[in-house]
Amino acid sequence: MQVQDDFNPLPGVVEELEPGLRRILAPNPSPMTYRGTNTYLVGTQKLAIIDPGPEDPRHMQAILDAVAPGQEVSHIIVTHSHLDHSPLARPLSQQCNAPVYAFGPSDAGRSRVMQELIEQGMQGGGEGIDTSFAPDILLKDGEILEQHDWQLEVIHTPGHLGNHIALALGDACFTADHIMGWASSLVSPPDGDLTDFMASCEKLKTRNWRVFYPGHGAPVDQPAARLDWLIAHRKGREAEILAELEKGPATTAQLARDIYTETPEALLPAAERNVFAHLLDLSNRALVKAQPPLSQQSSFALHKAL
Ligand SMILES: [Zn+2]
Repeated sequence: MQVQDDFNPLPGVVEELEPGLRRILAPNPSPMTYRGTNTYLVGTQKLAIIDPGPEDPRHMQAILDAVAPGQEVSHIIVTHSHLDHSPLARPLSQQCNAPVYAFGPSDAGRSRVMQELIEQGMQGGGEGIDTSFAPDILLKDGEILEQHDWQLEVIHTPGHLGNHIALALGDACFTADHIMGWASSLVSPPDGDLTDFMASCEKLKTRNWRVFYPGHGAPVDQPAARLDWLIAHRKGREAEILAELEKGPATTAQLARDIYTETPEALLPAAERNVFAHLLDLSNRALVKAQPPLSQQSSFALHKAL
């Protein structure tokens, strides 16, 4: 994993990353958000704001202050509706008179398996969903947003959340929480779907990127290597789970304890969700089978063993 502890911008301070692209860090550091949420401003006249961030008046003021005389906000784009990315979109939209663009509300793009888990009553355990999120304009995969000095292409990248998008600006990509440099992305059922996440990684891998601008942490300047690392990391975890299941059927909790031997007790619930994400993916691919069918309490066995 890349070590990026030197990434420590001051919240609220505008930094130019390249001509026509600026970043403001929101003041919401935490173990889940690292130094805080990155808000990006694209353009020199009519601006796109990518991920306004949490509803914090200081951050709102910092964004408004960054809009210079002669500039105006024309697009507010939300990559996904987690509480650290979307809640400021509506108040900012009211201030700037610009519409909010996103793939959809919080249940948009959700896979069938995750929908079933939610119907069974499984609660989210991740970053917190902005359940009231309601974009003005819905974006589709492949759609282009543009002004005279910028063009952004929407790339639907479900996995971290069903409504997650990345945005291509030429050979740069705003990867939000799908690909980051400081941590492997959280994929936590029933919000996160690992089958979708891996497919979204493969989708990004088909292009030659110069840089990734993530939702948290520093720019990733070796995008292909980072994507390869993430895919290999997930496949390595999958291999560990399959090796444990070779010994016999096990529950998510047993597998988490056997695999995450170094993990403190307090972090085991998060580890269990990660193992569960893998087991759901493996059952989608008919490599393991759950008994009784699909819940975090099921016992899982290798498909060939049944
Ligand atoms: Zn986030």
